[in-house]
Amino acid sequence: MFRNGFRLPLRLAGISLYVDVSFLLILPLMVWLTAQNLLAVVQMPQFRLDPSAFQGLMPLGLGLIAVLGLFTSVVLHELGHSLTAMWYGVKVRRITLWFLGGVAEFEEMPRQRGAEAVVAIAGPIVSFALAALFWGLTLVVPRTQPATWLIMWYLGFVNGMLGLFNLLPALPLDGGRILRSLLALRMPHVRATAISGNIAKVIAVGLGVFGLFNNWWLILMAFFIFNAVTSETRFSVVSDLLKGIRVGDLMNRDVKTVPAGMPVGYLSGHILAERHHSFPVVDDQGRLLGTVGMEELRGAHPDAPVWQVMTSQVPTIGEDADALDAYKRMSLAESPRLIVTDGLGAMIGLLTHADINRAIQVRQMGFQVAGAPAAGQPVTPVSVHRVPPPTAFSPYPPVSPFGYTRAHAPRDPERHARPL
Ligand SMILES: [Zn+2]
Repeated sequence: MFRNGFRLPLRLAGISLYVDVSFLLILPLMVWLTAQNLLAVVQMPQFRLDPSAFQGLMPLGLGLIAVLGLFTSVVLHELGHSLTAMWYGVKVRRITLWFLGGVAEFEEMPRQRGAEAVVAIAGPIVSFALAALFWGLTLVVPRTQPATWLIMWYLGFVNGMLGLFNLLPALPLDGGRILRSLLALRMPHVRATAISGNIAKVIAVGLGVFGLFNNWWLILMAFFIFNAVTSETRFSVVSDLLKGIRVGDLMNRDVKTVPAGMPVGYLSGHILAERHHSFPVVDDQGRLLGTVGMEELRGAHPDAPVWQVMTSQVPTIGEDADALDAYKRMSLAESPRLIVTDGLGAMIGLLTHADINRAIQVRQMGFQVAGAPAAGQPVTPVSVHRVPPPTAFSPYPPVSPFGYTRAHAPRDPERHARPL
């Protein structure tokens, strides 16, 4: 979800903590706004605070402390969700702070009935406990220390608001998760998501309109809720439709690969002939080494072997993995295709976004996904095509792509660099 994050040098219960760039950008503004809020509280006669204690840089300093305290509280709120999820056996990927708060990313939602509600309620419970703690401290801290008292009062207030706001029944807020989880006790999960998704959209619109006249922060929040709930509903539909389908059922087993030693000049002709944009690169054992496509060919010497220019960071997935996992992996890696490998790293097929979308459409029409073998039945034998090396690339094939002729080719010092 967050690509521009910094990892903080501390882990909480084994969970890494990240700070998104948006948080750092908004921090000075937050400090300034909080300082204004604190000054407004000081002016309130019922608190009987001495305004002379809040001169000069004091409000800004207190604003900074209050904002840091707020975001520490947010981290504890997320930790509440995370520890509960871990108790259900779910792995927590990380906690990220961004300008609208905090996000705990789980590998998956706990599958136990009602578990999502328990995980969701844990966050607001932490926030209310913190509110009680800080407000309890205002009874202990004497008013003769107005700065400390003010911070305690403010943190108690924002933690209470944090807990209340998150209980709004609008997905993806905690209240929306509780609602969805409770609805899912009585109906299919996908329907529960659809209903709570519609409620969330109504609340988001209401929040946006209210924010228009009161607080621009709420407008941002409304946009966030609306977007997040749209993708959450879509994801829920997709996971329902892909249930029970494996990568092996959808992948293309008829994949053209290229050998690592193929010269770039030959590959360019190959791309034209095969009408593919890119190819998996394999060694002579059929093991996947990377991919190569038009992008990598730019500026490359025609004599250079493909392995010198290929991309070796290739997202892969196993044949037995769930199609839904492949879908998630594609969104995470922002890659429209995954290479399917067996346990030994040999490539056995290719799965594209289009393959998954086709399966989704077929299921949406109420059909079974053809080719998905019933449990216990043998899978179609693998047939991966390998391009035979044109007589070990010497002499060069008669293809002279893009006007390149061998006579004019400059010598490539890298050509004999090292065999693969
Ligand atoms: Zn929460």
